Amino acid sequence: MPDLDRLVVLAHALREGRLLFRERAALERYAARLAHEHLRWVAAHSPYTASRFLQASLPLRAWRDLPPVGKAEMTAHFDVLNTAGLRLEEVRRVARQAEESRDFSPELVTPAGRFTVGLSTGTSGTRGVFVVGRAERLAWAGVMLRRLLPGWPLGLLRPARVAFVLRAEGGLYRSVQGRHLSFHFLDLLRPVSELARELTKLDPTLLVGPPSVLRALLETGARAHPERVVSVAEVLDPDDRRALAAGFGPVAEVYQATEGLLGLPCAHGSLHLNEAHVHFDFEDLGGGHLRPVVTDLRRRVQPLIRHRLDDVLVLDTPCPCGLAARRVAHIAGRQDDALQLPTRAGGQVTVWPDFLRGALDRVPGLREYRAEQTGPRTLALGLDPDGAEVRAAAAAEVSRALARSGATEPEVVCGPLPPAVPGTKRRRVVRTWQDGGGGDA
Ligand SMILES: [Zn+2]
Repeated sequence: MPDLDRLVVLAHALREGRLLFRERAALERYAARLAHEHLRWVAAHSPYTASRFLQASLPLRAWRDLPPVGKAEMTAHFDVLNTAGLRLEEVRRVARQAEESRDFSPELVTPAGRFTVGLSTGTSGTRGVFVVGRAERLAWAGVMLRRLLPGWPLGLLRPARVAFVLRAEGGLYRSVQGRHLSFHFLDLLRPVSELARELTKLDPTLLVGPPSVLRALLETGARAHPERVVSVAEVLDPDDRRALAAGFGPVAEVYQATEGLLGLPCAHGSLHLNEAHVHFDFEDLGGGHLRPVVTDLRRRVQPLIRHRLDDVLVLDTPCPCGLAARRVAHIAGRQDDALQLPTRAGGQVTVWPDFLRGALDRVPGLREYRAEQTGPRTLALGLDPDGAEVRAAAAAEVSRALARSGATEPEVVCGPLPPAVPGTKRRRVVRTWQDGGGGDA
């Protein structure tokens, strides 16, 4: 990569060091100033964003009252939302082409610049698109470098091999290729045994990938001794954390979605919201479950202003590391995947994916599973291994957990776990049944 780009990435990494606020008030002051400048720019360049303020009859300074929008609105208004004159059709075409050819170097090149494009790995409905400009890409790489490289800044002086096991690379991480620092992209659509051999040979110092894939590599015999294992793209469950920590090394989690870089780990291994770059508002769903409405304070090409995520989070008490950015206890799952079950009192109860994951985590000998609500009161459990003992224990744990949540006992149908589809995100708890009405939280 050009030397200038390397310097830009390093400059962002250094700046990131100054953005690790330890005082909440200082962090909030900084973010408010950033929001003020950013919103002025976005409203002047993104017609869709300006029209949202007009429609709500709100001045820019009242941006936190702006009614939220989601992925559907972002996709429907993409052409007038983005500030680089990009068209949805063109972005989709380039992203699809890159995915099919497994060649992630092409970018969308327009008179306005070069853009990295991609499709979200959404499983339901239309897939969202994301677009990142060149400057945004370098900034992103700098933040990742500062927050993930073990032993910063001396870590920069030691040879480091970073292995990314990812579905699509998007050219993002190649930006920091250097003499001491090398990045290796392992395409997770390749056979697992082949990937395991390659990973063993590489023995990276930093290993990044979705927990389900890293675990499959471990179980296929991959041996590596990274200083840090970074879980991305999927929810990190406690059993994955234990297995990866025992097999590879210390585990940290990055919370990254199509909507941006939302959470990063600290030195204590906790996940903190990325609040020096993204503002978080929350919709309270009850029981400590919060649905984020994010405002990215930096992204200009595809602005995200009061954008509602599908994820549901649970926040934690302040972290002993001293960072002011709030700590995430866990990502409870996607709102779409929450089970909707009848209660004994005749109402309906929402059961969050993490609740069921916690129950199934207690089943002795259960390696992997999928729980799927297939009817108003039917739950299908795919189990690996699928033996009589595991079935009995799994059904008992699920029934106990659901009884605690107030749901009537569902019909639990056990069977073998269907094989994973390569390249799709693992979701352990899903709801494929659609209810006509809404449920309470
Ligand atoms: Zn911390």
